[in-house]
Amino acid sequence: MPDAPYIVGVDIGGTKVACVLADGEGRIVARQWQPTRSAEGWQVVVGQLFEMTERVLQGVSPQLVRGIGISCGGPLDSQAGIVYSPPNLPGWEAVPIKSLFEERFGLPTRLENDANATALAEYRFGAGRGSRNMVFMTWGTGIGGGLVLDGRLYRGTNDLAGEIGHTTVLLDGPLCGCGKRGCLEALASGPSIARRARELAGESPDSLVWQKSSPEGVTAQHVVEAAQEGDLFARYVLAEAATYMGIGIANVAQILNPERVVLGTIAVKAGELVLEPLRRALAVHAWQRVRQVLQVVPAELGDRAQDLAAVCLWLED
Ligand SMILES: [Zn+2]
Repeated sequence: MPDAPYIVGVDIGGTKVACVLADGEGRIVARQWQPTRSAEGWQVVVGQLFEMTERVLQGVSPQLVRGIGISCGGPLDSQAGIVYSPPNLPGWEAVPIKSLFEERFGLPTRLENDANATALAEYRFGAGRGSRNMVFMTWGTGIGGGLVLDGRLYRGTNDLAGEIGHTTVLLDGPLCGCGKRGCLEALASGPSIARRARELAGESPDSLVWQKSSPEGVTAQHVVEAAQEGDLFARYVLAEAATYMGIGIANVAQILNPERVVLGTIAVKAGELVLEPLRRALAVHAWQRVRQVLQVVPAELGDRAQDLAAVCLWLED
């Protein structure tokens, strides 16, 4: 459908919902956003999405629209187009979002989990540009992943490919939100960095971290800031998390042999403070021939990623 230049991108987040109209080159021509009224139930949120979609489509003939892309936190079934109660969207038990949009707008609609959709955006427009095999990893509240292999998104059998955050990197390690022990996410995510700082607070009473926050209120952001100001304790906590991240990436690299690993928020904010220890762990745990073709880099799109992620679902082909 090369003669249908426009794409609608819908981003469903726990705090914010957004809708854009983009052209076939990914340029955003209209944008709407609202705080997510998630407490009022899924019907209200879908109503918000419909209203914003109508606004960005105002004056645009449906024949000029290739399709609607929807990016949402999982778990979800991308084929059937159904969202199954993501942790940030309470009450979304089996919401058939794809068919709801198709019935309402008469436009073909695709649904994808947000990590996969963001992977496509970084692959096409961001730090993954020019690579053929790319692993994208969110690195913030959670550690999610998206795999673009030979230029195509790899979803796995039931949309669970790329869940790198829940690979085991420490036997009998801390309990993860998923119920297992020793997951990468339980050792290297933002909340895990905060927990580790709290655990070690008694050994580091003079750290800058404790001038920024009490142990109860500490976040990864406090640790990153203190590390940037030269605080050795904060640097130690970050390096420990980054070491586990390096082990996780080494495992993925040994399996997939990618040329690019693109890392989200914490790598973007902390830069070399995490990338340096991460590369050292990678050097220990991945073969030299695997490493010699691999670049580990921070994501580039920042806030633009959310706008482009859902749009990319119609740029893939
Ligand atoms: Zn887990």
